[in-house]
Amino acid sequence: MSRSFDLVVIGAGPAGYIAAIRAAQHGMSVACIDEWRNRDGNYAFGGTCLNAGCIPSKALLESSELYHRAQHEFGKHGIVVGDVGMDIAAMQKRKTAIVRQLTGGIGGLLKANKVEGLVGHGKLLAGKRVEFTPVEGDAEIIEAKHVILASGSVPIELPFAKFDGETIIDSWDALELDAVPERLGVIGAGVIGLELGSVWRRLGSEVTILEAMDDLLYMADRDIASAAARDFKKQGLDIRLGAKVSAATVDAGVVRVDYEDKSGAQSIEVDRLIVAVGRRPYTGNLLADDAGIQLDERGFIVVDDECRTRVKGVYAVGDCVRGPMLAHKGSEEGVMVADLIAGEVAEVNYDVVPSVVYTAPEIAWVGKTETEVKQSGRAYKTGSFPFAASGRAKAMEQTTGLVKVISAEDDDEILGVHIVGPMAGELISEAVLAMEFSASTEDIQRTIHAHPSLAEAVHEAALAADKRALNYVNR
Ligand code: FAD
Ligand code: NAD
Repeated sequence: MSRSFDLVVIGAGPAGYIAAIRAAQHGMSVACIDEWRNRDGNYAFGGTCLNAGCIPSKALLESSELYHRAQHEFGKHGIVVGDVGMDIAAMQKRKTAIVRQLTGGIGGLLKANKVEGLVGHGKLLAGKRVEFTPVEGDAEIIEAKHVILASGSVPIELPFAKFDGETIIDSWDALELDAVPERLGVIGAGVIGLELGSVWRRLGSEVTILEAMDDLLYMADRDIASAAARDFKKQGLDIRLGAKVSAATVDAGVVRVDYEDKSGAQSIEVDRLIVAVGRRPYTGNLLADDAGIQLDERGFIVVDDECRTRVKGVYAVGDCVRGPMLAHKGSEEGVMVADLIAGEVAEVNYDVVPSVVYTAPEIAWVGKTETEVKQSGRAYKTGSFPFAASGRAKAMEQTTGLVKVISAEDDDEILGVHIVGPMAGELISEAVLAMEFSASTEDIQRTIHAHPSLAEAVHEAALAADKRALNYVNR
């Protein structure tokens, strides 16, 4: 007799495992299937985010940033450290330990919530049945009242720069390097290109990033992107915009990358090449032909605003569906779907999904950019405050960047908040909360912010939108 569950989730990344836990909290019987296997041969829950994405990249960003600051900043504080060295093996060991702790923690969370964590492959069959093939043993058919597909995404491969796992590598390989490449090339100055380019630049690589678009971070506000670009240049990141790459050839361990920009044909030679040109939804052997699930032309599982597929009782969440490929977006979709299945009213407010780029300075935003607001035709006002005028930022020796608030002229609604600077990824939460509560700029203006704190820069930017900044000359 086959096992049956109220809910079967395929995929235990941040979208799937969160959905499973939330559903179990509602009293459902839940199984969560995942097949992720790490380089050490161990299977682990947590998906891309915990094993090969958010968490390991942030661990390396932290280590490399501390190394950089020890070399370039400690002296200003009067700290005498002598020669600073970097033990790459120790750095990688720390990263792996963090990943192991956190992925192990998910196993524990599933157990504590009585979710059956199943290690192996899941495939949706017709009639809400799931074929589960464990890593060892025979496949079984599991009956489910509801199914959530949370199969995530994988890196896009360029036909002329195929991954070889050694010299032309994806973001996962780039997180696992055991030595600092002398010359590192990156195709794509998106989030991964900038974050991983920063890691290896700080550790000593000569980094060249080739970006097809003419603008850096096209999705960010222009003022923020140009402030960030200036800083990246100072850090020695060689970002070449408008670069159309046509070939990458490996010869004796050296990659020659050919590209064209407005000055004509160009080429660079590097020791490693990271290809970071985006990710695509992953649905490999996930759906039986008669499962009834529709994919769009780019391979995303088609869902409505509430993540319902066209098969009743089958949902899809996270990177395998439309919307930004961000862990927190997937998790919130997982929560929404579990709540909907439990009969509650739930929704995801896609207008206030924060974006953070964990470079130094960090870049973070929520809502519309000034260009988008301008295009919408709504009258607006903006206020900015530079971290150079923040006492806390000065004390931290991190005065690069600014906060920019964009608000509606008519009713003072906050339309977007954009930050480049220290802890931007933490500061943006205030703006997200404010926008979630439909706050006005005046609400932030009248909110008491601790002194001295970086958050005062958000306060002052909100004041500046009405030319009321108190610690900066209003323009
Ligand atoms: P995934 O995390 O990809 O998980 C999907 C899981 O499903 C995988 O474990 C996979 O093994 C499993 N699976 C798939 N098909 C099957 C099947 N048929 N049977 C069994 N199991 C299956 N996002 C952020 O928000 N912040 C960041 O700082 C950030 N940094 C990143 C850094 C890097 C280098 C990368 C690559 C990504 C980063 N992301 C970040 C993006 C983030 O990792 C993804 O948005 C997030 O992991 C998506 O979650 P998900 O659950 O939809 O999919
Ligand atoms: P991305 O979409 O952020 O950036 C890809 C970049 O590559 C773009 O700027 C694009 O113009 C460029 N590009 C595409 N094709 C190119 C070509 N042929 N030649 C040169 N440039 C080209 O994608 P990513 O950086 O690969 O990241 C993938 C996903 O992972 C993103 O959706 C991102 O949201 C997520 N992620 C998030 C974080 C974070 O939240 N901090 C960190 C890493 C990754």
